[in-house]
Amino acid sequence: MQVSEQTNTPSGLGLAEDEAVRITSELIRIDTTNTGDADTVVGERAAAEYVAEQLSEVGYEVTYVESGAPGRANVIARLPGADPSRGALLVHGHLDVVPADASEWSVHPFSGAVQDGYVWGRGAVDMKDMLGMSIAVARHFKRNQIVPPRDIVFAFFADEEAGSWYGSQWLVEHRPELFEGVTEAISEVGGFSVTFKDGVRAYLVETAEKGIAWMTLRVRGRAGHGSMLHEDNAVSKLAAAVTRLGQHRFPIVLTDSVREFLAGVSEMTGWDFPEDDLEGSVAKLGAISRIVGATLRDTANPTMLQAGYKANVIPSVAEATVDCRILPGRQEAFERELDDILGPDVEREWRGLPPVETTFDGALVDAMTSSIAAEDPTARTLPYMLSGGTDGKALSRLGIRCFGFAPLRLPADLDFSALFHGVDERVPVDGLKFGVRVLDRFLRSS
Ligand SMILES: [Zn+2]
Repeated sequence: MQVSEQTNTPSGLGLAEDEAVRITSELIRIDTTNTGDADTVVGERAAAEYVAEQLSEVGYEVTYVESGAPGRANVIARLPGADPSRGALLVHGHLDVVPADASEWSVHPFSGAVQDGYVWGRGAVDMKDMLGMSIAVARHFKRNQIVPPRDIVFAFFADEEAGSWYGSQWLVEHRPELFEGVTEAISEVGGFSVTFKDGVRAYLVETAEKGIAWMTLRVRGRAGHGSMLHEDNAVSKLAAAVTRLGQHRFPIVLTDSVREFLAGVSEMTGWDFPEDDLEGSVAKLGAISRIVGATLRDTANPTMLQAGYKANVIPSVAEATVDCRILPGRQEAFERELDDILGPDVEREWRGLPPVETTFDGALVDAMTSSIAAEDPTARTLPYMLSGGTDGKALSRLGIRCFGFAPLRLPADLDFSALFHGVDERVPVDGLKFGVRVLDRFLRSS
C-alpha cells in the first residue's frame, strides 16, 4: 500500500522529525570513539545494537555482522521496493566518531544535549545526524507501510574514521552479498546548504572524493656518536626531504566536479573564478573554501616524525608520515613529482584508498534536486568534490555510484565544515527536521 498523504499527526512525518532528533541525541550518548588503535575503540557494538533495536522494533529484519574483530559491529536491513527488477539504493552511515576532549567543549561531547535549537556532541554532524534522519525515515516507512519504488538497503558501519578496514572495506571484501543489486548509494558530507550571499543558497552534493595516501618516508644512515664528525645522518637527511615536500605546491588541476561546482556558483552569484587566480577567487566562498581550495590540487602534509632514542646517539633510521590527498586521475603524475622532490635516498611506503568520482546527472540526481526544491524552492543543488574520504571509497569497489547526500538546511552564518572533528560539534534541530522531510520525499521518488 502506498501512503502518499503526509500529515503532521503522531503517525505522520511529524513523528519522524521528532524521532530523528531523539535518535541523533541518543546515538551521541553512546560513546563510539575510534582512536585508530583497535584496542581502544569503544562503543560500536552498543551503537549497532541500539540501531538494530530501533529498526527491529518496527518490523525490520536486521543483519548484525562483526567485521574482522570482536565488537567491530555493523547493521544492515533491507526494505523491499515496488519494482524488484530495479537496482537497489543504499542509504549508509558510520557509527564511529573521532575522539573529543571534554575540557575544550561548552557541553559534554557525549551528552547529546538538545539546547538552543541544536543537538550537541561528538558525531552531531559526522555523522550521527544522518543516522538519526535515516533511521527515523526507515521507521516511518515501515510504520505506514510505505513501499519505495525500489529496494532500499540501510547500512550502518564500524571504523570509518580509521580507514573503514574493520567496517565497509571488510564487508565489501567478505560479505558482498549484503549489497546485492545495489547500484547507487547516499551518505555523508553532502546535501548541506551553503549560503554564498543574502538568500543565495546551494545544497552541495558530493560527487567525488580525493584519494588518500598515507605515506611513510624512511631514510637510512650510519649510526654513530653524537660528539663526533658525521657525514651520514638519517635525521638531517629526512628533515630536509620533509621540508622540501612540505613546501612543495602541486599544480592546479581542474577536475569535472570542481569545474561544474565553480560554474554553478558563478551563475548563482555572478562571481568570477579566473584560471589565473583560482585560489584567490575561491577564498570568496567563505568557510567552504577550506574544502574547495583543497580540491584544486594534490596536497602532501607531513604529520608525524620519528627518529632516535638518546641525545648523544645518531640513529641509523629516521621516519616521517605524510598525509597525501590525490585528485582523481593524478596518481602517476603525483608519484613522478615525488621522485623529483624526495630523490633516490628516501624510501616510500604507502597505505591508502583510491579517489572516487561520478557524474552529476541521471534520475537519482534529479530526485535529489526536486526533493530539496520542494522544501527550499529558491535554492539549487551543485556537485562538489570532498577533500577527505568516506565509506564511498569501499562501496565504489562494488561498482556502486556513491553520492554525499545527507540533507541539512543550515543557518547562513554557521561554519559547518569547522564542526567536522571540531570542538562544540552540533547540528540544528530545524536542519534535522528539514532533512527528514527531504529524505522522505527523496526515498519515495527515487
Ligand atoms: Zn564521517
